[in-house]
Amino acid sequence: MKIQDIEVIAFKYTSRLVRDKEGHAHPGPEHEAVQTLTRITTDEGVEGYSFGGSPAMLEAARLVLVGEDPLNREKIWQQLRRFQRLYGPQLHDYYLAAIDLALWDLAGRFTGLPVYKLLGGYRDKVLAYASTMCGDDIPGGLDTPEHYADFAEACLAQGYKAFKLHTWMPPYDASPKRAVAACEAVRKRVGPDVHLMLDSHHFYSRTEALYIGRALEELDFHWFEEPMDERSMSSYIWLTEQLDIPVVGPETAGGLFYTRAEWIVNHASDISRYSVARGGLTAFIKCMHLCEAHGVALEVHGGGHGNLHALGAMGIPGEYYERGLLHPFYDYEAPQPWLNTRPDVLDPEGYVHVPQGPGLGLDLNWDYINSHRV
Ligand SMILES: [Mg+2]
Repeated sequence: MKIQDIEVIAFKYTSRLVRDKEGHAHPGPEHEAVQTLTRITTDEGVEGYSFGGSPAMLEAARLVLVGEDPLNREKIWQQLRRFQRLYGPQLHDYYLAAIDLALWDLAGRFTGLPVYKLLGGYRDKVLAYASTMCGDDIPGGLDTPEHYADFAEACLAQGYKAFKLHTWMPPYDASPKRAVAACEAVRKRVGPDVHLMLDSHHFYSRTEALYIGRALEELDFHWFEEPMDERSMSSYIWLTEQLDIPVVGPETAGGLFYTRAEWIVNHASDISRYSVARGGLTAFIKCMHLCEAHGVALEVHGGGHGNLHALGAMGIPGEYYERGLLHPFYDYEAPQPWLNTRPDVLDPEGYVHVPQGPGLGLDLNWDYINSHRV
C-alpha cells in the first residue's frame, strides 16, 4: 500500500464561541467559522482522516508521504520531525499531529480496529472532569465565585465526578485573591469528596502562584495547573519544591515530549501533561512511556477522538478526560453537524467511552461537509 496524496478539506460551520482580547473563548453571538479536515489517500482505496491541518503543511508533507507505506508511521514521523527544523511554522507540531492522527486513522480503517486497540488497549472508558471556560463578566455566567459554585453543582448533577475551574484571566480582573475566592466557593458548595482542580491565569509571578497554591492545599484541591509562564522552568522548580499539592505541566510549552523529559528530570512538576495535538499519537506514546519509566502520572490536555484513544491505551494514570470547555450559557452537548455522533458523550456515571469504530472512529457527516466546503 502506498500513499497517493494528502489534502486539507475546509468547511464552514456556525460557531457560538467568541474570543476575547487575550484569545480565550466565551459564549457569544452566532458567527461563521471554518473547520479543517486532513485526508490521506492510498492506491488501495484506504483513507485516513483527522481534524486540523493546514494547506501550509502540504508541500513538506507531500515530499515525505507520497509513495510511502502509510503503515510506516514511525518512519514518517521521524522524517517530519527533522523537516520541522527547516519548515518551522509550516510544519507546526499541530500539523504534525493532524498528519500523524490521519495515519493512525488509516491504519485502523485498514485493519478494522479502533486505534486504542492497535496501540494496545487498556480501558474502554475514562472518567471525565468538567472543564470550565475562563471567567468573564457575563451576568449569571462565570462572573462571580458564587456562579462558579452554581455551575459546579449543575455539572455534578449531570454526572461529572470532578470539576476544573479556569478562573479569570485578563482582560478580566485576574487577582490571586479573586481566583482563590472562586475555588473556596466551589469547595464549600460541592463538599469535601469531589476532585477539584484549578487552571489559573498563566502569568502570575512566583509569589502569586505560591499564594494560590497554598490556598488550594487548604481547600484539598486535586491539582494546580499552569499558574506561571512555562518558558521559565526554574519558576516551576521553585514552586513545586514548596507546594504539597501536585503541580501539573507543562501544557503549552513547545518542544514535544523532549520538554516533558526535561521537566521530569528537573522536578519542575509532579504530574506531566500532554496532548495528541502536540505531534500526534506517535509523539504521545513516547511521552506516555517516558512518564511510566519515571513513575510520573500523565494528565491529558484537551479532548477529542485522538486524546480519547490515547487514554484508552494508557496503563498509567491518566486519571481523567478533559471535557469542555464548558459554560452555563454554552450548549456543549449540541450536535456538531459535521459529525453524526460526537465522540465524548458523558454517561450517567461520569465516564466517556472510547470510540469503537475502526480507526479514530470519526463518524463524519459527508453531506454536511461537502455542502459547506470553502
Ligand atoms: Mg490547562
